[in-house]
Amino acid sequence: MTSRDGYQWTESSGLVKGVPSIGVIQPPTNIKDEQAIYDVIVVGAGYCGLTAARDAALSGLKVLLLEARDRIGGRSWSSNIEGYPFELGGTWVSWGQPHVWREISRYDMRNELEISHDYSRGVNHFSLNSASGSRNMSHEDEDRLMESALNKFANVDGQHGRTVMPFPHSESYSPEAAKYDKMSVADRMEQIKDDLSPDEHTVLLGFVLLCSCSTPEKTSFYEYLHWWALCNYSYEYCIEYLIKYKFKGGQSSFAINFFKEACATGRLSYAFNTPVATIKDNGSDVQVTARDGKIYKAARLISAIPMNILKDVAFSPALIPGKLDASNREHVNKCVKIHAEVRDRDLRSWSGITYPNNSLMYAIGDGTTPSGNTHIVAFGGSHNNIQPEKDINKTMQALQTLTPMDIERVVFHNWADDEFAKGAWFFSPPGLVTEHLEDLRAPQGNMYFANSDWAVGWRSFIDGAIEEGTRAALAVKRDIDRTRFAHL
Ligand code: FAD
Repeated sequence: MTSRDGYQWTESSGLVKGVPSIGVIQPPTNIKDEQAIYDVIVVGAGYCGLTAARDAALSGLKVLLLEARDRIGGRSWSSNIEGYPFELGGTWVSWGQPHVWREISRYDMRNELEISHDYSRGVNHFSLNSASGSRNMSHEDEDRLMESALNKFANVDGQHGRTVMPFPHSESYSPEAAKYDKMSVADRMEQIKDDLSPDEHTVLLGFVLLCSCSTPEKTSFYEYLHWWALCNYSYEYCIEYLIKYKFKGGQSSFAINFFKEACATGRLSYAFNTPVATIKDNGSDVQVTARDGKIYKAARLISAIPMNILKDVAFSPALIPGKLDASNREHVNKCVKIHAEVRDRDLRSWSGITYPNNSLMYAIGDGTTPSGNTHIVAFGGSHNNIQPEKDINKTMQALQTLTPMDIERVVFHNWADDEFAKGAWFFSPPGLVTEHLEDLRAPQGNMYFANSDWAVGWRSFIDGAIEEGTRAALAVKRDIDRTRFAHL
């Protein structure tokens, strides 16, 4: 099936909107009784909503899943084009991520992973393009340079941040760490600028801004330290956990298992192509109205929609001020992720950073397509003015600036312009997490709020989405049981 989301360009077809995905659900609804009253309505079928719907249905609750798009997966989905899965959103997973690994293990998908990079053949080098010129170096030299720069950046305590954030999966961050949320990446760069070589300066910003896909001024230093702590305070584990292991069949081959398991309970109703417009908690039940005017009712609601668009749904009673403020301020990640299928086989072992003089700043050889071409994945932030669907030629120029390549196909999803995400993975501006994490996590009456954007552990990741979906389903089940069995 072809989703409305995503774009593909080839010389013969030009730019075409919509790409095929096994995550597209047909028929789009299985609702039989329009008047049914559910135990819980879950809004959003990303990993968080899928987990919440599945767990709630498994626990015996009658569930309705409403999703605006024509597919599951939200910000993590893959398109299978000519036998090759291009990841349009979330991609890499790892056994260092506890919730995602439990699911990979549960669905017996441990052997479905592969390694993104392959340095066994081809050019086997890293290209560094900075303001002062460009040169290639070995991947060993790349690692040494990165490690040195990242260690200096995180070394706020003489122990590479270990004493500042000793429990990265803990909700109660230490007052010691909270002060770093007042700092931006630009502030931290200013503190260490005399310790950095020009190359360290370039790769550091290339890497840190790959994490946020924003500017140094808008990127919270605290949030970066949180990622660093999750990655065992080391560059080696940043690579291991963030950018190494992916599904051979693409993310949608993973997400579909959640959906199928929920369906198999016989307790899941669903409707895709159903953007929710209003959510009203009447005290005794919750009423959801879709944009097409259809009304759905349940005892409880789980909103699994992202932070940047919470403000676009009319909640009654209104969202508490902290939730609304966070949604209005928005997280800063406006990533544009571009896939290029290129005829140059030797680029399989290439990676590169071009900063600051290009709208795409980081790219790696990520796979080999069935026809033997190399798959390159590149990242840029839309603050750099990259709008691939508006100017595909400019986008291809940006790819060529990373390294010369013979492009056969380009595939992408512009998350910045996506009305149901308004951004890519969560990355906070200074202050937002310490001010509003608790607000974002708080339930309001019969309405529960869950999303990767406010997970406590791997916030911003698929793991965090599953953490949150698990939390919400359990809270709703306990709440409903408390009401049902109050007389016992
Ligand atoms: P979402 O996936 O955003 O799900 C929310 C759902 O709600 C969506 O399906 C949306 O359509 C729906 N929705 C929104 N509004 C409405 C409405 N009004 N009515 C009905 N439905 C609505 N994570 C990793 O772990 N590894 C990676 O390598 C990685 N790379 C990434 C690369 C990119 C380009 C992006 C965008 C993300 C990446 N992430 C990665 C992050 C990861 O994809 C997300 O954190 C995770 O998928 C979020 O899941 P979620 O369910 O919390 O939210």
